[in-house]
Amino acid sequence: MGIARLALCICVVACAACGADNTVQVWQGQEIDKHETGEFLRFNLYKLNGAEKTSTLLVIGGVHGDEPGGYFAPALLATHYKITKGALWVVPNLNFESIVLTRRGLYGDMNRKFASVRADDPDYLSVNTVKEIALDPEVDLVMNLHDGHGFYRERWENTIFNPKAWGQTLVIDQKKLSDVKFGNMDEIAKRVVDKLSVHMASDHHYFRVKNTETRYKDEEMQRSLTYFAITNLKPAFGQETSKNIDALAIKVEYHLRSIEEFMHIMGIEFERDFELSYEGVQQVLNDYGTLKINDRINFSLLDLRSILRFVPLHADGSDRFIFDHPLGAVKKIGDRYDVFIGNKRISALYPQAFDGDCTLPQVSVSIDDQNGSLFSMGETFNVKKHFVIEPIDGIRANVIGFSVDGVENETGMAIAKSRLIPRFSENVRGSIYRVEFYKDNSFCGMINASFTK
Ligand SMILES: [Zn+2]
Repeated sequence: MGIARLALCICVVACAACGADNTVQVWQGQEIDKHETGEFLRFNLYKLNGAEKTSTLLVIGGVHGDEPGGYFAPALLATHYKITKGALWVVPNLNFESIVLTRRGLYGDMNRKFASVRADDPDYLSVNTVKEIALDPEVDLVMNLHDGHGFYRERWENTIFNPKAWGQTLVIDQKKLSDVKFGNMDEIAKRVVDKLSVHMASDHHYFRVKNTETRYKDEEMQRSLTYFAITNLKPAFGQETSKNIDALAIKVEYHLRSIEEFMHIMGIEFERDFELSYEGVQQVLNDYGTLKINDRINFSLLDLRSILRFVPLHADGSDRFIFDHPLGAVKKIGDRYDVFIGNKRISALYPQAFDGDCTLPQVSVSIDDQNGSLFSMGETFNVKKHFVIEPIDGIRANVIGFSVDGVENETGMAIAKSRLIPRFSENVRGSIYRVEFYKDNSFCGMINASFTK
């Protein structure tokens, strides 16, 4: 199973969309070669820096690939928050390879590799790089996000509610780190848990502080990310919502409420562009953004068909896929490309390979009898009744889902929705159609015709 290229410079686009003017950087990994050839999905680091320095919170998500609350919450932090004071650093997708497969750890439990990791372990680079980020002198506090089993209770009730359960806890390895800023971890955890208890979707969801007393009692946890942090004098917290809560939006809301309280405690100020409620979170979770391919194709991922055929890609496999969602990824499986947002498979693209190259900066389209508007490749135009692609020298247009016997070039023809075959639309609702441009056998790009009422 090969892995196709993934986008690197995604977050600049995403934050432009949310109106943030934060300094945002994306860590691309030291192993640029492997990343560029797309053999391995590596994580990204988003640095959201406010104008004034106070403290820096590092939030790490996705160490376990089967805990979606733990990676969708930080994905929202990276794209829907603006930091006005202090700094928030976010790794939404630490174990990206496992996330797209919804596996805890494709190469074993990554959260047991922070004491030591073998050089030939596929997780080696991710583990060591995130350790370096955690030890950055600017970082004051580290959070590691999970969705754990059951609901933590001090006394045994049953297999779901018991002292061994991890769900709905803030986990600390010990009470304190002396002489360290935010070293009063037990007090901080208690304050956050108290604050969280005001906003529970169900009474039994309440959070508790779980002190694993790692140094004395928990040899296994001595290999974890948080224990690595505290042994290096960085206050660290594990944060677990429950795998036994089905609704992703509820888990994400809890994670975000807690992180916001941590930011309050640390003097980090922020703005958020959605309402922190079940409905508000649900709405932004559904926003998958777009996928750009080779700067010539642009698909809206909302309502995209689960299979798209004859997608024009390069014959040599040198395609560039760019998402504006932090959890966007493409994996090549056999002869198709699967498109993911986190662990959700959005679509499968079946390519049609094209050699050669063609550059077509803009095309002119007459829409609803209005003359010639110009569009660049990848753009979408809205149309009510019909559109006409203006003829271009040496260029052939192909509207997918439209055909007239004996006509190869579909420029100069009025195309109404009634003449398009719905099953060829890009989206399930049958309202968006691909308009592709070719020069001889080279693909130049496509624009999207979106029919509106
Ligand atoms: Zn976990």
